[in-house]
Formats: sequence, structure tokens, C-alpha cells
Amino acid sequence: MVSRVIPVEPFDLVIFGGTGDLARRKILPGLFRRFCAGQMPAGARIIGAARGDIGQQGYQDMIRGAINEFGAPSAESLVHLDAFIAQLHYVAIDICGDGGWGELAKLIRKDLVNAYYFSVAPSLFGDIAARLNSWDIATPEARIVVEKPFGRDLQSAKALNKVLSQQFDESQIYRIDHYLGKETVQNLMAVRFGNLLFEPLWNAQYIDHIQITVAETVGVGGRGAYYDTSGAMRDMVQNHLMQLLCLIAMEPPSHFDPDAVRDEKLKVIRSLAPVAAHHVVRGQYDATATTASYRTDAENPRSFTESYVAIKAHIENWRWAGVPFYLRTGKKLKARTSEIAIVFKKLPHSIFEKSADEKQNVLAIQLQPNEGMTLDVTIKEPGPGGMRLVHVPLDMTFADALGDHSEDTPDAYERLIMDVIRGDQTLFMRGDEVEAAWKWTDPIIEAWEARNDVPKLYDVGSAGPEDAMALIHRDGRRWREVK
Ligand code: NAD
Repeated sequence: MVSRVIPVEPFDLVIFGGTGDLARRKILPGLFRRFCAGQMPAGARIIGAARGDIGQQGYQDMIRGAINEFGAPSAESLVHLDAFIAQLHYVAIDICGDGGWGELAKLIRKDLVNAYYFSVAPSLFGDIAARLNSWDIATPEARIVVEKPFGRDLQSAKALNKVLSQQFDESQIYRIDHYLGKETVQNLMAVRFGNLLFEPLWNAQYIDHIQITVAETVGVGGRGAYYDTSGAMRDMVQNHLMQLLCLIAMEPPSHFDPDAVRDEKLKVIRSLAPVAAHHVVRGQYDATATTASYRTDAENPRSFTESYVAIKAHIENWRWAGVPFYLRTGKKLKARTSEIAIVFKKLPHSIFEKSADEKQNVLAIQLQPNEGMTLDVTIKEPGPGGMRLVHVPLDMTFADALGDHSEDTPDAYERLIMDVIRGDQTLFMRGDEVEAAWKWTDPIIEAWEARNDVPKLYDVGSAGPEDAMALIHRDGRRWREVK
């Protein structure tokens, strides 16, 4: 089955911070792939707006280099590169002053879809929003896209929401969480709400617990200074892990429409119980003979910032009463993997001899490195020798049924940018959702700060600190292997 590409309407997309790391590594290579796939129409334009008078030609050369460096373009796609580059424009702009805004105003075609990507530090969001309006650039239909981090606590998130809402309606604001753009995350909703099979079992009666793991092998890289003021809780849990938790735990929305889905996600966040101190483990990676410690990487020898968090969370509603959600994320771990595992309860009674009946069904949704799903089921071991049971993963990656179209499958950023152009907010976070998420994480962070909590050390290349193992072992359960 070949994935269908539905072209979007012609648009003008302005990328503030169009020369920055995110634009060069993700946004523009992603747009190029959509162009090659035939989704970005010939009449569309991308306007980079940033500091520095590099000129149109200079910008086009920069992006050509970025696509070659970060986009891993295939030989066939390079045939389209010149045509794509011809659709790029550049405006040297001073976000906090007047320079460049008049030129931008002249360039924008207001009769087309207009989108403004704020790929700059959040401290500049207010200036951009205000100038887009004072220069009469943004139309009432214009869309703005904002990147994480959306605040560093409830107060700052509220302030950001306020700044944006002074100039734009909520229906115009697209807060990106690129985890929501992943194919399998959307498949999670398709599996839950497009089949009769799972939903009747999707509750405390049949589910023992849920694990959400986002493990990275990389350290803080060149982002040490930023990361050290943030930590895993703010950088990963408050957004990505909580968004995944919402999609697993939410009630079926009445329609697959943006506000119906986001209303249900919000209810999940608001139902999260406050987390007890002994249900959270913070970790920080330590040096080994061959690798540096977090403190060295972050260039802060006294840092108490966590590069790992594990949490046992509870949702206080009828569906999930008593079902623990174990969340964990960390850097410099054993393997790079993101996985959601729904672990079903043990059989109430087995008619077979002991041995295989101890195993539980597990629905595992793999987000990276390879997107896919497996359902662990018990079957009879083939061959003679009586009724011997084995536990095998039923592969539900659908690769055979759908064919391998990894080349044409848009990555999360591409998909989300096309959703912005189409005006579909379903996979974007609403302002109240972001605030509710901070409201849950703030007390956890404040408690650490109040007691000067020292993170537990873990070895680079391990599965995390010992205390995180104890967190789940105490409940008679184990983490799934990080592999
Ligand atoms: P960057 O520092 O590489 O780029 C910043 C861009 O903003 C540059 O193009 C610069 O010219 C422009 N800029 C800065 N101040 C300006 C001003 N006063 N007037 C005009 N232009 C100005 O940053 P980045 O890594 O691309 O990140 C951009 C945003 O995306 C940040 O909010 C960051 O937190 C977020 N983000 C980045 C990544 C990533 O992988 N880089 C991932 C997630 C989120």
C-alpha cells in the first residue's frame, strides 16, 4: 500500500530564527522532504528571518549545505534541490527593533495561508507576536508555531500564554511537541479507538501497570549550559512523557477533532495525583574510565541537575484506579529507545501446568529507533511433546501489510508543519494543557529544590540508578529491558 500524499494549499511560511540550529537540522530538511514527496506546492514560499545580513543567496547556500549535511537526501531527491532552494527567501530582521519588519510586511502574500514559526528563544516570543501585529503582517487566520520549552514552571508558562494571547487567538497557536508527530503515537490512537478489541480491556480491571520509557544514549552534548538550568524533568517529563501518558490514559473523545482530543488529554493531566517523594528518583550520570560525567559535560562541577528521572504516577479516576504508571527518561543510558508498554494482568486461573502461565500479555509500542508495535501472547510451542506453552511477540508493525515506505513516511517535524498549514491543531498542545502539566510537575521540582536533593549517580551505559530499580521492584514488578 503506497502512502497517499495530499498536497497542501500554497503558503508563506516565515521561520524566525531561520538560520538557527533547529531550522537547519530539522525544519528545512523536513520541508525539503515534503517538497520531494509532492506535498509542498510550487507556489509555496519559505522565508527565513534571522539576525545577520547574509542575503538571499547566502541563505539559499546555507540551507543547501544544511540539507546535504542533516537531511541525508537520496540521489533521486537531490534532483529537486534547486527547485526547492528557489522557493527560499531571506529577510534580515531585528526581532526586538524595527529592522526588517517593513521588508517582511511587503513580502507576505496575505491571500495565502500564512504561518510564522518562532524558532527562537522563548524570551523573544512576545516581541515577535507584538510586531507581527503592529506591522499589520499577521492576518486573523495566520498561524504561529512555538517550540519547547514552553516555560520553565507554571508561572512562566502562564506569562508566555498571556503574551501570545494578547496578539493571537488560541486557534492560531500551535505549540509543538514533536513526540505527538510520530507515526506510532498516532497509531496508538488508531489502535485504541479504531478497533473493538483493545478498548474493553483498557482499564484497571485488565491492566496491571504501564511503563513509559524514553532512554537516550547521548549526553547533554553542546546544550550543557541550557540543560543544566532545565534537567530531565523539565526537558522531557513535563512535555513528551506526559503527552504520551495522556494518549494512553484518555477517554475516547467524541470525535477525532482538535478540541475533543485535547479536552480528554487535559482531564487526564488534571486527574494525576500529586507524587509522593518516595515515588520519584532523580539520577545523574557519573564518569567511567572512558567517559565524562554529567558535571564535566555540563561544565558545572557542582551541578545537582538530573539527567535521569523515574516516577511512579497514579491517575485518580475510575478507569485507572490503582494502576501505576511508571515513567522514566534519562541520558547516557544503555540504549536509545522510546517505548510505551501496557502490561496486562496475570491470568486469574490457568488450566495449564505452571511455567508459561506466569507471563503477562504486553502491548509494546516502540517510538524509536524503529517505530512499531508488538503484542506478547502465549501460544503452544509447535511440535509434539504435549502442551508446552511459549510466550512470543506478535509483530504488529504492519510492515508486511503496508510495505516499507520509510522513505515516504514523514518524520514528526514534517508532519506537524504540514498540519499547521492545513490548520489542524489535533497534535499540538493547547495552552491549558501545558499549564496543567506544569501544575503537576512544579511541586516535584520545588520539593527537590527545597531540600537540595542530590541526584543518585548512575554509570554511563547502564539502565539508570539503582534506586530506580528499587522503585518498581518494591511493587513486585520490573522495568522492561532498555535495549
Ligand atoms: P539557535 O541559537 O541555533 O538559533 C537562534 C536563531 O534565532 C538564529 O537564527 C538567530 O539569528 C535568531 N535570533 C536570535 N535573536 C534574534 C534577534 N534578536 N533578532 C532576530 N533573530 C534572532 O537556536 P535553536 O537551537 O535553533 O533553537 C531555537 C528554539 O527552538 C529555542 O527556543 C530552542 O529551545 C528550541 N528548540 C531547539 C531544538 C534544537 O534541536 N536545536 C530542539 C527543541 C527546541
